[in-house]
Amino acid sequence: MEANDPRKKSWIDIESSSDFSIQNLPFGIFSNNGNPKRVGVAIGDYVLDLAALYDLGFLDLGKYARSHFESEYLNCMMKIGKQGTTELRNRISHLLSTDCDDLKLSTKKDVFLHKQESVTMHLPVEIGDYTDFYSSQDHARNVGTMFRDPDNALLPNWKHIPVGYHGRSSSIVLSGEPIHRPKGQMKPKDQTEPSFGPCKLLDFELEMAFVTFNGKPMGQSISTGEAEDYIFGMVIFNDWSARDIQTWEYVPLGPFLAKNFASSISPWIVTMDALEPFKVAGSNQEPKVFPYLEFDGNKNIDINLEVLIEPEGQEATCVSNSNYKYMYWNYAQQLAHHTINGCPIRVGDMMASGTISGPVPTSYGSMLEISWRGTKPVSMNDGSERKFIQDHDSVIMRAYSEKNGVRVGFGEVNSKVLPAS
Ligand code: MN
Repeated sequence: MEANDPRKKSWIDIESSSDFSIQNLPFGIFSNNGNPKRVGVAIGDYVLDLAALYDLGFLDLGKYARSHFESEYLNCMMKIGKQGTTELRNRISHLLSTDCDDLKLSTKKDVFLHKQESVTMHLPVEIGDYTDFYSSQDHARNVGTMFRDPDNALLPNWKHIPVGYHGRSSSIVLSGEPIHRPKGQMKPKDQTEPSFGPCKLLDFELEMAFVTFNGKPMGQSISTGEAEDYIFGMVIFNDWSARDIQTWEYVPLGPFLAKNFASSISPWIVTMDALEPFKVAGSNQEPKVFPYLEFDGNKNIDINLEVLIEPEGQEATCVSNSNYKYMYWNYAQQLAHHTINGCPIRVGDMMASGTISGPVPTSYGSMLEISWRGTKPVSMNDGSERKFIQDHDSVIMRAYSEKNGVRVGFGEVNSKVLPAS
């Protein structure tokens, strides 16, 4: 039975509400009991330990050595490429299925299967270059309406180019790692001179990011049709943003210190293979795009997205329900555009979607839009209000796909904001 077959069942008990069904099998890096970092696969409430499975002889695919699975990051394993990780996932799917007794009847389950609550998750990838796109039309229109001209909210290039900028990978951190409110320069409208201090308008951006395999040599391009051969999988991506710093600094070269102080990602990389059944058509692209941006088939993905704000010691409030399918430019177009000039990509590069807003206010992907630049405060369950993110708030993002009774989820990215240091 194929790895994505909805009829496939695991011999491990998995609740139907679990993000980590046997049809998912996302990869991450974990450690437990003081042992070195290893590659794990999430299944139900458990982590499958691939180094332990290798030692027991279950991963003899002829491609992998032990060092691929006892490793600080997934990069080493990912260097084998798409075909390798697909074969690996298929093997794991078989081993965990009711069709196979090898692991089910093993007396060494405590060696290769660990409760998720008993392990520590780590940054899954040594991130090389990080790029952030700006590919949601609803987001771009909202921002253009607020800051420029409601009648010409989209800039003239927007429907021709998947706009993006190069960010900084050194400040991408894992879910659970607290974020300090950044300090910087800002110049609010009611001031004639700039001031310096902790940012006052701290925001999240609801995004998804894809992680790449090694690409082609410099000077060559990856077509939209080839894009999936170069993408390993995706994570949830919170692109923290300091709106007041951004407003003052961004002209003429774009985002800088308003963005590079922190971004937070979820720990499990859900593979493009696992997301395949959830692909859907995107919106019609008019005007017609250049041939290098044309594509065949469905390249949007139906991934439900949710953002919650949790004030310290209080119940969380959901502030957004969006979907990755709302993207105007899809991941294949983003990668094709990124490489059309010959820019090489490398294993572990991370490319974020840009804020994913939907068509209605309850689906907007940032507080900038949800509170409409602070003019529409959001009521929280604890009776307080939010225009932007306050100190000691936690921002929680969740993402999952669901179809034919199969759920493929990402878990969450959950990060607390600490006062400026
Ligand atoms: Mn962003």
